[in-house]
This record gives sequence, C-alpha cells and structure tokens, in this order.
Amino acid sequence: MIKPTGFFRAKARSLHVLSQKIVDDFDGVVPARREDLVTLPGVGRKTANVVLGNAFGIPGISVDTHFGRLAKRFGWTDSDDPVKVEQDVMELFPPRDWTMVSHRVIFHGRRVCHSRRPACSACPVAALCPSFGIGETDPGKALKLLKYELAPGQEALREEMVANVHRAAEIRMREQGHPVAGLADPQPGGGL
Ligand code: SF4
Repeated sequence: MIKPTGFFRAKARSLHVLSQKIVDDFDGVVPARREDLVTLPGVGRKTANVVLGNAFGIPGISVDTHFGRLAKRFGWTDSDDPVKVEQDVMELFPPRDWTMVSHRVIFHGRRVCHSRRPACSACPVAALCPSFGIGETDPGKALKLLKYELAPGQEALREEMVANVHRAAEIRMREQGHPVAGLADPQPGGGL
C-alpha cells in the first residue's frame, strides 16, 4: 500500500515503530485526544488534528506549510506561528467546517496557489483573493502551472479539470461518486 508513495522503506520502518508505540502505550487503539496523539513518533499538532478530524469527527484546523502560506495570502492571519494561525482561522469559521477548510486550503496550495508561482489567472477564488496578482496573471501561463495530482491513466480527467478549472473541485467530487448538479456522469475508470 505504501510502496507507490515513495521512500517506502523509511515509511515502513516509521509505521512499525508507531504501531508498536500504540500497542505499548494505548493497548493497540489509536487515541482520540490530541495530547495523546502527539506523544506518538512522527505525530505533531498538525497530524493530530488531521486524525482527530477525519477518524474521530473532532473538528480542527490543520496548519501545514500550504495552509500557513494561504491563510496569510487570504488575509485570515498575519502570523507565521502555526498555533496562532490555527487560532485566528478558528475564529473565522464554525467548528463544523474546520476539518474540510483545512483539506480544501491545503489542496488549493498544492494545486493552484503554489509557494513560488501561484497560478492566479487560473485560480477559482481569484475574485475573492486579496493577493491576486502576486503570481502568474497570464491565463495561458497560469493554466500550465496547475498541478492536479492524479493517478496514472487519469490524463483525460486532468485535462477536463484544467479546462474547467472553476469547477475542478466539483468534477473531482463527481469522480468520487458524489452527484453534482450540471455535470455529466463520471468518466469510465474515473477517480483520483
Ligand atoms: S488569486 Fe493567486 S494568490 Fe490568491 S489564492 Fe489564487 S493563486 Fe493564490
């Protein structure tokens, strides 16, 4: 399962150590408290919040390098401190949205609003963004900067997402089996 993710030998070793710690300290059950999760090797505040939000339904803001960068570009915070960023953003959204806000912002950072060259003119939230223009404003060049990470064989889907960038998130949802108004049925073999 982890082989395709790269650095799989190191990751396998880490998973073994992590698993042993969960067995030794938590009777083999992944703990549902942040203060316990961060005692596990390789688990920091960000990862703990991801686990709490996705595995236990306990909402949280997960601040990684993408989230921190975009939160500043959106004007949600002026801090570089991940804990302060987390607190600032938590004040802007209701708790029920915290986990998905984290995922969506991180995906947007990976795919569109890159660190060095954001694809501003291909950005679905350009009209809302106070930082529009810090990146590429030529539409053709901006489209080429998009990075949708799709499994091999999904080139047609990627082309569809790039061609319809303002609906890329909905196209992705459709491929995952969610009905989306105004979009055709999933392509054969679709999925991310
Ligand atoms: S408009 Fe530019 S800076 Fe703003 S979110 Fe989009 S890519 Fe990032």
